[in-house]
Amino acid sequence: MKPRRSDFCEFCEGTLRNRVVRAQFRYLGQTVYIDNVPARVCDRCGEQYYSGRVFERMAEIAKDPRRVVGTVSFPLADFAADGPLALEVGEEVTSRG
Ligand SMILES: [Zn+2]
Repeated sequence: MKPRRSDFCEFCEGTLRNRVVRAQFRYLGQTVYIDNVPARVCDRCGEQYYSGRVFERMAEIAKDPRRVVGTVSFPLADFAADGPLALEVGEEVTSRG
């Protein structure tokens, strides 16, 4: 069977696999995390892809404050605390990990 374009990550060409994820969804300048979202996830860089139906439902959830069931927090650090480290012209970069 010929692999479809939608089987591969558009950023790194890793393989997408069906998974259930905690999705990060931005709505009106706010970020809401939504658990148990069906997505296709790149096995190389971790990029998450959603279908139109899933995306629409996430928007419905995000705009309803009654759907918030908790708050998550993440550690925050300051990269610049160790002094400046600027990218050099032509320095090679990657998107993630
Ligand atoms: Zn990828």
